[in-house]
Amino acid sequence: MADLKLSETRDLTRIERIGAHSHIRGLGLDSALEPRAVSEGMVGQTSARKAAGIILQMIKEGRIAGRAVLIAGQPGTGKTAIAMGMAKSLGLETPFAMISASEIFSLEMSKTEALMQSFRKAIAVRIKEETEVIEGEVVEIQIDRPAVAGAALKTGKLTMKTTEMEGVYDLGAKMIESLGKEKVQSGDVIAIDKPSGKVTKLGRSFSRSRDYDAIGPQVRFVQCPGGELQKRKEIVHCVTLHEIDVINSRTQGFLALFTGDTGEIRAEVREQIDTKVAEWREEGKAEIVPGVLFIDEVHMLDIECFSFLNRALENEMAPILAVATNRGITTIRGTNYKSPHGIPIDLLDRLLIITTQPYTKDEIHKILDIRCQEEDVEIAEEAKALLTHIGVETSLRYAIHLITAAALACQKRKGKVVENEDITRVYNLFLDVKRSTQYLMEYQEQYMFSEASIGDGDED
Ligand code: ATP
Repeated sequence: MADLKLSETRDLTRIERIGAHSHIRGLGLDSALEPRAVSEGMVGQTSARKAAGIILQMIKEGRIAGRAVLIAGQPGTGKTAIAMGMAKSLGLETPFAMISASEIFSLEMSKTEALMQSFRKAIAVRIKEETEVIEGEVVEIQIDRPAVAGAALKTGKLTMKTTEMEGVYDLGAKMIESLGKEKVQSGDVIAIDKPSGKVTKLGRSFSRSRDYDAIGPQVRFVQCPGGELQKRKEIVHCVTLHEIDVINSRTQGFLALFTGDTGEIRAEVREQIDTKVAEWREEGKAEIVPGVLFIDEVHMLDIECFSFLNRALENEMAPILAVATNRGITTIRGTNYKSPHGIPIDLLDRLLIITTQPYTKDEIHKILDIRCQEEDVEIAEEAKALLTHIGVETSLRYAIHLITAAALACQKRKGKVVENEDITRVYNLFLDVKRSTQYLMEYQEQYMFSEASIGDGDED
């Protein structure tokens, strides 16, 4: 029994979760930004992907701030998938923040604060820092007195004199830390690894520094062949403005970055940070990396949020804003006015609009094929054709959902390959929107007057 539990636990840790868009690995464009028919998990939707590729190029060049794109189209036509593709194609340093518009109403902060935080999550600062490091293949240090290491750990400073080169060097905090862990004693020989600065104890040395008495407590460097001692090195950190905000906000510790429980950040904190970043930029120490803020279901924002967006886009540090919606002409939240996509005309006018088109049968077939591979489901050609037919008649999303369900039905009958019968079985078990609506229309009356019997039914 114990063995069984153990193996179950081990198996569970190996499970990789498959998300709705985990098959999307990029936009599937070639070097000339032309979309390949099927590439990086992307199928069809060529003009939208091409347009997204051009936006991506704009972002990569990093010179244009405050541009906004609207991805509009019917449900399930790949709007979110395209945004994910953009995110995957950006370099590691370019931030991509993604929210659904409804999220900003559910946080414990004002709507505009939530939007502001999202904006600042999408702007990174590349900070160049010159630090004193020892660069070389491996450098050995010999400590002459335990007090040296001890004192250094307390003060965070350790002065060293090299025997190979002239000069007294400070040992970086990182090294001090690892020295402490290694419990260094007098006479130990230590290696400093490049470029991490980590220190490892190599062993003991019997020789003692010659000039020990002359200069007092000291440490001796012995450089390995091929190594070079350099005093200055440029280290680049890339952090988002939001991270800097949280770290500098006195009410929130930096741990809030992990919990997400950042609360409201005061405007003064942000102003100070912006001034500091501007200073660094002038001194050539930092540069801004505008990323992408993607807001899904943008019609859920209200008029206050839209006016915030209008203003935020004017900022020279603004990221590229990408928004998506599946709504047609609808009411702008917070007003009685209607507008295309529920977005005020003045904001709409600033947006570059990309539209997505409904998929052809062939495209649905290819997307389902990719999803089957992603979910590791083996499916017979005939069953795939049936699933495609269902996708055309109902929706792509419904057909995608049936893959997992059909695989389970197949497993239950101890089959290895999903066949027509599995698809039919789950198709009959789970209704799509059309059939569900039809059912509700037919049995509407029972639904309205029989709440108790629904509860009874649940227990069956
Ligand atoms: P909604 O308007 O309902 O939010 P959407 O347009 O954002 O829908 P998605 O969620 O992107 O639609 O697409 C539905 C599913 O189909 C997702 O699993 C998505 O990854 C997949 N999909 C959509 N388009 C493509 C495509 N061109 N290539 C590959 N997979 C796609």
